[in-house]
Amino acid sequence: MKTIERKIEIKGQEIPYLLKRKWGVKYIRLAVSRRGELIATLPLFSQTKSLENFIESKTNWILEKINQARKNPPGLLQRGNRKKYLRNKERAREIILKRLEYFNKFYRFQYKKVSIRNQHSRWGSCSSKKNLNFNWRIIYLPQKYLDYLVVHELCHLKELNHSAKFWKLVAKKIPDYLSVRKRMLKL
Ligand SMILES: [Zn+2]
Repeated sequence: MKTIERKIEIKGQEIPYLLKRKWGVKYIRLAVSRRGELIATLPLFSQTKSLENFIESKTNWILEKINQARKNPPGLLQRGNRKKYLRNKERAREIILKRLEYFNKFYRFQYKKVSIRNQHSRWGSCSSKKNLNFNWRIIYLPQKYLDYLVVHELCHLKELNHSAKFWKLVAKKIPDYLSVRKRMLKL
């Protein structure tokens, strides 16, 4: 697949877009990414002229989508892609294992597998089978948030809920967890 950066003028605005040509694609496809980039995917041998006509027929939709994306800048959890995930996965694992070991000297809970995932919805989770999952994007987290996250998932090994008992357990290592949690929701 080849990607070229191009520009097109829509209603007096110069709009940059990524042009991709892909084997197996039958029709022109337009998409606006969460970051507000316009992406056009074309069949391998189609003309650029037909793309420009197509874009012109969709100008309202495109401008609306781009404005939407600009109004809601992507949070930390929306950043990065699969390539970055693969590149940073082991680094994330190393960081997480170190902090798990550190805090578990205190808690002494049993856990099985630690997985590093590429999700856009959550920083971490704990399963009833006592497996811990963390998002690779923790590499971007300030230490304070990272520690809160690790303690949070660790405590789920004991309390698989968000009860008062659970928070009491968290507070043993992160006394100001409430404010950390609030700030983390805005990342
Ligand atoms: Zn939780």
